[in-house]
Amino acid sequence: MSSTSPIRMALIGLGKIARDQHLPAMAGDPRFQLAAVVSRHAALDGTPGFHTFDDLLASGVAFDAVALCTPPQVRHGLARKAIEAGKHVMLEKPPGATLSEVEDLRQAALDHGVALHATWHSRYAPAVAPARDWLAGKTLKAARIVWKEDVRVWHPGQDWIWEPGGLGVFDPGINALSIATAVLPRPFFLTDAVLRVPENRQSPIQAQLTFADTVGVPVTAELDFLQTGPQSWDIEVDAEEGALKLSHGGSRLWIDGVLAHEAPEAEYPGLYARFAELVATGASDVDVAPLRHVADAFLLGRREVAPAFVE
Ligand code: NAP
Repeated sequence: MSSTSPIRMALIGLGKIARDQHLPAMAGDPRFQLAAVVSRHAALDGTPGFHTFDDLLASGVAFDAVALCTPPQVRHGLARKAIEAGKHVMLEKPPGATLSEVEDLRQAALDHGVALHATWHSRYAPAVAPARDWLAGKTLKAARIVWKEDVRVWHPGQDWIWEPGGLGVFDPGINALSIATAVLPRPFFLTDAVLRVPENRQSPIQAQLTFADTVGVPVTAELDFLQTGPQSWDIEVDAEEGALKLSHGGSRLWIDGVLAHEAPEAEYPGLYARFAELVATGASDVDVAPLRHVADAFLLGRREVAPAFVE
C-alpha cells in the first residue's frame, strides 16, 4: 500500500450493519476500496468472497485492513488473526465480549505495528460534539438516559443478542453510554443496577442503572427492548445554566426546548475518516469506557426474572 493508494478492505460478516452502513461508507470514501468479503452465507457480485477468514488469508487476495461486522462473541479470534497477519483492524461496537480480550487486542496491535480502531458510531452523530462543547464548564445537576426501542423491529432474527456476550438491551444501550462518556464533563460510576432477564434467555431485556459522577451528580439510564410506539434514544442533562437534550440517538441538540443543532446523519463516514487517519499513522483508538460500564452493570446489577421472550 503506497501513501496514495486506497486502503484495501476485507469486510467480515455480511449482516445488517455491514450492508446498511459499512458498504456505503466505504463506497463513498476514495481512501477505501473493498477487496474481499468473508461470509458464511452471502456473497457480493464482483467482489472476491470467502466462507472463512482462513480461506481469505490462504487465497493470496491482497488486503490491508479488515472491518469486523460479526457479533461480539466471535470478534476477538478474528481480530487477533488479522493483527498477526499484519492487517489494520476496525472493530464494530462493542469491541469484544470481554474487557480482557480487548486489552489483548490493544497490546497485539501495538506489538505488530498495526492500527486498531474500536469504533463507537454514535459518538459521530452530528449533535454529539456540540453537546460536549455546551456542557463543558456548566454546573450539572442531573443527567438522564432514556433508550427504549422495539427489539422485534430493530433486531429481527438476531439470536446472538440473547446469548452470553450478546449484551441484550445493552447492545443499543452501549451506544447511549458511548455518547454519555463522550459528552459529560466528568467520569461517572455505577452505584446501582437492576437487570431484567427473560426466563428463556441469557441477557437483559430491560435495565435500570444509577450512576454518580465524581462530584455526586446523579446519572440514570433506563434501557428497554420492549418499547412499542414512539422510540426513544434521548439523553437529557439539567444544568444551573439551562437544560440540554440530545434526541434521536445524538442527531439533534435542544437547549431549553429550542432546537440548537441538527445535521444530516454521517456516523459511518465519520468512522471511516477516523480509520483512514489511524491507518496512515499506525496508531490505535481503543476506548473501553462504554463497555466497562456494561461490565460493571453485569457485576453489580440485581437480576430479576422477566417473562419469556419469544420473537
Ligand atoms: P447481524 O445482522 O446478525 O449480522 C452479523 C453477521 O455476522 C451475520 O450476518 C453473519 O454474517 C456474521 N457472523 C459471523 N459469525 C456469526 C455468529 N457466530 N453468529 C451470528 N452471525 C455471525 O448483526 P448486525 O446488526 O449487523 O450487528 C453486528 C455487529 O454490529 C454487532 O456487534 C452490533 O452491535 C453492531 N452494530 C449493529 C447495528 C445495527 O443497526 N444493526 C448498528 C451498529 C452496530 P455472515 O452470514 O455473512 O457470515
